[in-house]
Amino acid sequence: MARYILALDQGTTSSRAILFDEAGRSVATAQQEFPQIFPRPGWVEHNPLDIWRSQRDVARAVLDQHRVRAAEVAAIGITNQRETTIIWDRKTGEPIYNAIVWQCRRTAAMCDALKAEGFDQVIREKTGLVTDAYFSGTKVAWLLDNVPGARRRAEAGELAFGTVDSWLMWNLSGGALHVTDVSNASRTLLYNIYTCDWDDEILAKLNIPRALLPEVRPSSELYGESAAHIFGAPIPLGGIAGDQQAATFGQVALKPGMAKNTYGTGSFVLMNTGEKGVPSESGLLTTILWQLGADQPVTYALEGSIFVTGAAVQWLRDGLQIINSAAEIEPLAAQVDSAEGVYFVPAFVGLGAPTWDPYARGTLIGLTRGTTRAHIARATLDAIALQSYDVLETMRRDGAIELSALRVDGGASKNDLLMQIQADVLGVPVERPAITETTALGAAYLAGLAAGFWSCCDDLEDNWQLERVFEPRMAPDEREALIAGWRRAVERSQGWAQE
Ligand code: ADP
Repeated sequence: MARYILALDQGTTSSRAILFDEAGRSVATAQQEFPQIFPRPGWVEHNPLDIWRSQRDVARAVLDQHRVRAAEVAAIGITNQRETTIIWDRKTGEPIYNAIVWQCRRTAAMCDALKAEGFDQVIREKTGLVTDAYFSGTKVAWLLDNVPGARRRAEAGELAFGTVDSWLMWNLSGGALHVTDVSNASRTLLYNIYTCDWDDEILAKLNIPRALLPEVRPSSELYGESAAHIFGAPIPLGGIAGDQQAATFGQVALKPGMAKNTYGTGSFVLMNTGEKGVPSESGLLTTILWQLGADQPVTYALEGSIFVTGAAVQWLRDGLQIINSAAEIEPLAAQVDSAEGVYFVPAFVGLGAPTWDPYARGTLIGLTRGTTRAHIARATLDAIALQSYDVLETMRRDGAIELSALRVDGGASKNDLLMQIQADVLGVPVERPAITETTALGAAYLAGLAAGFWSCCDDLEDNWQLERVFEPRMAPDEREALIAGWRRAVERSQGWAQE
């Protein structure tokens, strides 16, 4: 009798396995970190065997800890660090090189060359992405160009490329499956998100043979089974989604106009735009959210990331040392009713959407003799909320559907004052769920739907429980003044590092 779903959450610094019950509660968790490899400045790699072994070991550990037999697991779902690129030998399963991690900048010059030719237009129109070293495509090209013999072996069909989900599926299935899902495919720079196929024009440009690529499948489907030796008996493999897409599914943001924001070191905002991929005029990414079965349409999202949000709180703690822990920012900021004209633009590494200024730098402005650390703490929370507002407002201008509510998760979403400010600035309710393990939960849901563990999306809506809703309360003129002041502060931060 299957009572659980096993979610594998393969992240950038650790692999986690979480067992969920039918109510969507996590009943056991195991986590293992693995080494980060920095061969040169700006280069980041992982050993693919570290990824696989750590993921397999935590999956086994979570079953052992809780004395769960393979037969009690209805299905396994995978969510993963996105864009990280692995190529391996189809016969031996051996990687030809380390995984090139999403953060790795080694192909920045290749991207500049594509842009100089104007090919970034083609990439944007077909993939919804900007031409950046972040995505997998140029990493694949680099491996074929730089690993001796790789191109010849790729052309002969001897090699397989995959993002981390593919690599795990391959290993879990004992080499039987070379698959990925639409959400991960949409981050490769090689996948046409409108025709839902690998794109021959882009493949030709990057000189990547089709024989290398995985089969693209829905995000929720029974793909196959795990090899019997891994967990003692086979377990169905039923769900795949990239981490941000899985988090959106875990938030049950299933309808167009629903959005989620994950507040961590930085923030990831994704808005469900339904069956329509909305091209962005402002440098946001158009991406595939999921596809819930082969007979179901593909669902799209607009995605915007903000580089520094929780990291600004860390800076108050470690740089300025005006708080001892991240949580202390809340009582400190609550000592004042507002920042009283103080604004903090945490542009430590430039600004992303919608400003896109790599030369912007952190700016603390509007200081007076009366400014205290409480005002700076408050201005920091304002900045986290205002940056998220900017991204959501850009989505609205790009033609996405009107935002109805924002669902939140991530470490900084625990901060009640921040969530209230977010609701005030957006003018829509902010909803915080009881379960904030949304990434793993999303993968579990995708697998559980495929296995019939949950019957349909209504079950998931029932499982999604509100812990607290923050209703907007700020007067409209006060809100407009806050936003207008923020605009001026952002302008002052721009171009600073340019000389
Ligand atoms: P990540 O997954 O990016 O490591 P987490 O989701 O674990 O991030 O969240 C950690 C971030 O949240 C840190 O940057 C920290 O400064 C911030 N943070 C944690 N607690 C609070 C809080 N109560 N108020 C504001 N920020 C917080």
